[in-house]
Amino acid sequence: MKTKIFNCAKGSAEMREKLKTGKKWKSALADHKKGFRLLKMIHQEDSSILPGYLLDVGLQLAEIYGSLFLSAGLIDALLLGTFREALFWAVALIGMEFVLRTGRLWMQNWFRKVTTRLWLVFYVWLRKKVFSLDYETMEQEKVIDRIASLEQTADMYGSLGVVLYWYRNMLMAALRMAASAVLVGSLCLKAPVRGKGMFGVLALPAVSFPLFGAALAGMFWASFRLSGIFAKERRQYFESNTGMEQRLEYLVEQVFMNYKAGKVVRIFGMEEMLRQNSAKETDKMLAHYDGMLWVGCRENMGNLSVSGLFTLFSYLFAAVKAATGAVTVGAFTKYAGALTQFGSACADLVLGNVKIREICTYMTEFLAFLDLESRHAAGSIPVEKRVDGEYEIAFEHVSFSYPGSKEPVLRDVNCKIDMKRKLAVVGRNGAGKTTFIKLLCRLYEPTQGRITLNGVDIRKYDEEQYRSLFSVVFQDFRLFAFPVWENVVAGQERDNTKIREALRQAGAKELVDGMPKGVDTLLYKDMGDGMEISGGEAQKLALARALYKDAPIVILDEPTAALDPLAEAEVYERFDRMVEGKTSIYISHRMSSCRFCDDILVFDKGRVAERGSHETLLAKEGLYAKLWHAQAQYYA
Ligand code: ADP
Repeated sequence: MKTKIFNCAKGSAEMREKLKTGKKWKSALADHKKGFRLLKMIHQEDSSILPGYLLDVGLQLAEIYGSLFLSAGLIDALLLGTFREALFWAVALIGMEFVLRTGRLWMQNWFRKVTTRLWLVFYVWLRKKVFSLDYETMEQEKVIDRIASLEQTADMYGSLGVVLYWYRNMLMAALRMAASAVLVGSLCLKAPVRGKGMFGVLALPAVSFPLFGAALAGMFWASFRLSGIFAKERRQYFESNTGMEQRLEYLVEQVFMNYKAGKVVRIFGMEEMLRQNSAKETDKMLAHYDGMLWVGCRENMGNLSVSGLFTLFSYLFAAVKAATGAVTVGAFTKYAGALTQFGSACADLVLGNVKIREICTYMTEFLAFLDLESRHAAGSIPVEKRVDGEYEIAFEHVSFSYPGSKEPVLRDVNCKIDMKRKLAVVGRNGAGKTTFIKLLCRLYEPTQGRITLNGVDIRKYDEEQYRSLFSVVFQDFRLFAFPVWENVVAGQERDNTKIREALRQAGAKELVDGMPKGVDTLLYKDMGDGMEISGGEAQKLALARALYKDAPIVILDEPTAALDPLAEAEVYERFDRMVEGKTSIYISHRMSSCRFCDDILVFDKGRVAERGSHETLLAKEGLYAKLWHAQAQYYA
């Protein structure tokens, strides 16, 4: 399957290119297509959000145009001296304002909740995607970096809530334009009943239309020019912000707020160096934000000047109509208001378009990430559940290179894994032992050859079901800052008896019994005031987790690296009992573990160099014997 790796800087570069080549409309359409896709996704997430925004648009329009009509009626009634009618208009105006403002106040509260929800939804979508990706794609650092950068960009420039906000403004602007157009059109059509000279001419419908059209075109042109200039400036800021937040976040979260780092900082006296580093980063960040704010400030001033000029024109235009008797004085406010609305709606439409396109430059990366395809074949065959644990696994001419590297880490590996036996995998550092296990667990797929389970390529099996066959304690096993029981259960059903048994078998019972809240004790300080445990203790809990899963094949990747020799001997002895009746694979640098195994696989430079029992391999006097004798010196 093909993988598209997304690229953060690509979006803006693409946009620049499109603008350069003059395909503005095409590129605008492509951006709005992305915008609509986001709207659709938001709607699928919560079907009440879009109708809510539409309702708000309706309320705002009703408020704007309702007050224009009602106040015009009120002024005319006052001028004519019909006070009962004036009272009616006044009550209607106040009543409408009260109802609509209360409604909009309630809506604003709702918007706040929706914006927070959407901010979270953005993260949830990213996380869901991250977990749906296969490990191979995930392990590529570039993907992880870019997810972090996407999140920071979304935090800085606004997330999904901003997309909705600007689309709502654009819709509002379009409707305001449509509603005002009727009034503006009818104003232009009104003929003067008095007035001579220039005023009389200007009020003529034949002159009014082109005059208004010219003013509108001028305003459109100025708005486009301004938004183009400022969008370019903002984009430059956007692009120059290469990892600024990432660096600051690292300093805050991983250095200053990380109590584990506190030890190193104090012992090595790194305080001043860190203070200077963070001051440098903060200054850069502040200068960046100041620059961005100044762009925004100048943009607002520019937009205000354009809309101010158009408002001035609108009032003069309506005044000429009123002065020449084309419309009543009361209607003057209505028409002047409609003209102003028309102008500001045009400006809002232009601004909304620019903002949406700006957001789409980084949302492009977000959507590309959501579209990222897993490298792995998604098999569907169910794995046969065997109570006797008799599965047959074989590597057939398996070679493997890590993505982005041509150098094979495994070369033509052929071997069968005998069930219910203890297999040791040994070899020098970097010989390919861990990679062999990663391929066995289907975290990576062979570049060449195949791995079979009961004669069938493992890629054809349902991934989750296949993985359920393995319990692994990796070299870099990880416990989480959750309570002990959650670490042991690791996503399966909680069964207290089973937890106790797994802890006992892993030799962690005393440790957990001695904890303040037993199995409910929180580990580490990341998620609260949890308990710190040593590397060896953590390893025992990781063993308990592997046992709790109760899988037919148990793999230990350098399980004793963090243990002292006595504890190591204890683990082997214990494990020997623990894996009874199961298939177990040990990867160890400590050759002593091999004595406990029935079969030994010796890796050398990615190849299986030797295989056999401890005695046979020693007698062979090959690589195994060399490694064994080299270590025996230290243990003698
Ligand atoms: P061993 O477990 O025998 O020490 P590994 O299987 O961990 O060896 O590594 C074999 C080789 O693959 C080493 O040269 C290592 O640097 C390389 N390697 C391991 N993991 C990765 C990775 N994620 N990306 C690229 N190269 C890797």
